[in-house]
Amino acid sequence: MSTSPGLATVYLGLGGNLGDREAAIRTALAHLGAVPGLKVRRVSALRDTAAVGGPPGQPDHLNGVAELQCALPLPALLAICKQLEAEAGRDFTAERNGPRPLDLDILAAGRPGGGPAPLDVVVDTRDLTVPHPRLRERAFVREPLVELGVDPDALPNLELARTVRDPVDLAATCRGWRRGDCVVGVVPTMGALHAGHRALMERARAECDRVVATVFVNPKQFDVAADLDAYPRTLEQDRALCREVGVDVVFAPAVHAMYPTGFASEIAVGAEGEGMEGGARAGHFSGVATVVAKLLNLTQADRAYFGEKDAQQLAVVRRAVTDLEIQAEVVGCPIVREPDGLARSSRNARLGPRDRAAAAVVHRALRAARDAFVAGERDPAALLAAARAELDAEPLGTVDYLELRAEGDLGVLAAGRALDDGGARMLVAVRFDTDSECATRLLDNISLSRAPQ
Ligand code: AMP
Repeated sequence: MSTSPGLATVYLGLGGNLGDREAAIRTALAHLGAVPGLKVRRVSALRDTAAVGGPPGQPDHLNGVAELQCALPLPALLAICKQLEAEAGRDFTAERNGPRPLDLDILAAGRPGGGPAPLDVVVDTRDLTVPHPRLRERAFVREPLVELGVDPDALPNLELARTVRDPVDLAATCRGWRRGDCVVGVVPTMGALHAGHRALMERARAECDRVVATVFVNPKQFDVAADLDAYPRTLEQDRALCREVGVDVVFAPAVHAMYPTGFASEIAVGAEGEGMEGGARAGHFSGVATVVAKLLNLTQADRAYFGEKDAQQLAVVRRAVTDLEIQAEVVGCPIVREPDGLARSSRNARLGPRDRAAAAVVHRALRAARDAFVAGERDPAALLAAARAELDAEPLGTVDYLELRAEGDLGVLAAGRALDDGGARMLVAVRFDTDSECATRLLDNISLSRAPQ
């Protein structure tokens, strides 16, 4: 591909699946060719393609790719494309991936100059991502590109859920996004992703321009080596889920990348980390706070998403983020459960069938306390007894702790005082080891407040 001086080669995806599709594409190309500084050099064959994503039962698209010579900056070309889409009757408020008369996507671009130029331009801003992140996975884009002599696999790779392993690369990527005005969200996880993680990532996807999911089994938050070793690791499956949700980057560093030789600093946590998980697992919350601080520093994320499933962890993280002036907003997300009420957890996979069936007691016990609260019970001892009665009726589970704490910071409640309507949270950890791979502790909690659940 050769370009005239001052002109860059740009490949534009063409599509549409409403009305006279070919006429819409030809009209758009005629308009583009008439714009000063733009030339349409070549157009691939147009082909019929089944719709991808969006509502079911859509008509087929007509798709192709145009090679342009372009003297305009890419944001200006994007604005022209949007205008042409609007003129063709596209409704920008309609459902994403829904039927549309015209779709113009900037797929890839080279730099201005004479002679052959590589298509190495990278734009990763709120309004524009070039090369297009879904380009490699879509035959209706790949094939016309190949027809025009472009190798899609030789383009810079901005595909969704691309794996970044180096913390320096992650920081640079996020810096670029912020320069492009993107709101950046991060979802810290230890992998073995399930529907609970998915809900966090979907919320981040809906609220942020760019989403990083981190997959890192953080050794600093394990106090027992066997538990660390037994923790499930399923990176390829995790990446597939991240791609499905539309996560931009999966950050999956090696342990030595996060904790190189000589690493010495750790965050000490306070009252939020005392008792319950903090009592059962020495150093656990210091390890959590340290890794979360590192991830939020690296990404400088605007928002960080955590599950209420780990309510004490959420309280510890909120405290550390406030105390250390970390600028991310911490977003707590509701617990996602199995149909029998068991909170989704990566550890559930380790439960044998008997323990798995018995594990439903954990949520049942919390519901019993909540039902008593809703019926007007405000005596902490009576609420704890309601949950305890359920737990005691299940011999396969051993209760590690069952506590009632203040909502929010999970502070210890004043002794002997009835609950007020401001709310409390009941937290529980139950161990199962009858037929599980290894002793498995399940955590759960429920809010006792007047707010609807
Ligand atoms: P983990 O990978 O277990 O460290 O969890 C990563 C994040 O996902 C944490 O913020 C958890 O609280 C959250 N999470 C785990 N399980 C669930 C669930 N069942 N519902 C909602 N969030 C969850």
